Amino acid sequence: MSRKRTDFDLTSWRTWLNVLFYEGSRAREAGDWELAIRKFHEILEIDPDDYLSRIALADCYAARGQPNDAIAAYRQVLAHHPALNVVKLKMLALRWERVGECVRCGACCRKMLLTHLNRRIATADELAQIQAAGGGHDNWRFDGNGPDGKALFTCRHIGPDNLCPIHSRRPQLCRDYPTPLVRSRLRPGCGYSFIKRTAAAQQDQDNANTLPERIDNKDM
Ligand code: SF4
Ligand code: SF4
Repeated sequence: MSRKRTDFDLTSWRTWLNVLFYEGSRAREAGDWELAIRKFHEILEIDPDDYLSRIALADCYAARGQPNDAIAAYRQVLAHHPALNVVKLKMLALRWERVGECVRCGACCRKMLLTHLNRRIATADELAQIQAAGGGHDNWRFDGNGPDGKALFTCRHIGPDNLCPIHSRRPQLCRDYPTPLVRSRLRPGCGYSFIKRTAAAQQDQDNANTLPERIDNKDM
């Protein structure tokens, strides 16, 4: 019989949730999706607001080939935590697959638009303020304005050979690039492209229009 939050005092409730989350995570690591899903469901029956468990549940659905269920669970998380960009990326990754490889043209390290907290960085001063406040983007410097007047930024590290001299310790932003979020704005000549996953193509026509187009990212 499943339990409810009111069945527990606060201490035993948290302890029980931690046990369930541990068991669910172990099952997930072992690829036992059935058991993992059951454990995360148990947690959510007790505490529907446990968004980490809901994300884990969605991840299990995605891994088990149930994109609709995964997207539904991710959406529930975003309804309460709209700034969780990692969830948006997970949703996009369900329907777009990156193919190809980097041809080391260096284009995505130069003359880029940058965003911070979902807003485009519009000026050199704005970038300086973000950096001074510890908001990241430390590798970037202002590099003039594009033909449309938008501020462009170039990485301080990129060399004349187009190689990244800090490749082994480059930021996560660079490791992840290009994400599905910038699939329609790849640099000319970029060796990557995106293809729609078959399963997602069958079921996501309505979802596609409501997904975010941009999150914190180096962009173009
Ligand atoms: S634009 Fe594409 S191919 Fe060129 S460096 Fe960036 S990721 Fe690699
Ligand atoms: S850190 Fe390296 S990969 Fe990232 S933008 Fe700079 S040169 Fe490019």
